[in-house]
Amino acid sequence: MIVFDLSCDNGHRFEGWFGSSGDFSSQKERGLLCCPQCGSPQVDKAPMAPSVPRKGNQQAERPTVSTAPHGGNEVQPVSNAPMPREVQEALEKLAEAQARALRKSKWVGEKFAENARAMHYGEKEVEPIHGQTSIEEAEELLEEGIEVAPLPFPIAPPDELN
Ligand SMILES: [Zn+2]
Repeated sequence: MIVFDLSCDNGHRFEGWFGSSGDFSSQKERGLLCCPQCGSPQVDKAPMAPSVPRKGNQQAERPTVSTAPHGGNEVQPVSNAPMPREVQEALEKLAEAQARALRKSKWVGEKFAENARAMHYGEKEVEPIHGQTSIEEAEELLEEGIEVAPLPFPIAPPDELN
């Protein structure tokens, strides 16, 4: 593995890991690289940073980019450092809070956009719902003035839909 300091056209800096230096150019050519902070595909090798030891342990705070070996454009920030206990606990609390917030909300699965539209245009009684939709669809809903918020944690669809 080889690590490069990368930067996007918005000046964000991050690290990218590659199998070889040739991987960088081939993935860049195929448009598989994008900035983990703003999603810009204009990613290039950053000028070499001076080799001064960083203060404290800032390494862990730098976002890293994972490349998409299967040709997708989805990028997931990852780290190989175990998360401290307090981070784990905070995430668990947040996940619980999300589950509580969704308790009165109805799971509509892939029919989210359909239901959200029907409620917005008065064809259906308004009630809290959650489900799945594509990013494109979510953007269309927002353009129509329909509120859509991404859930911070993935949720397992309830069994009764199976
Ligand atoms: Zn960026």
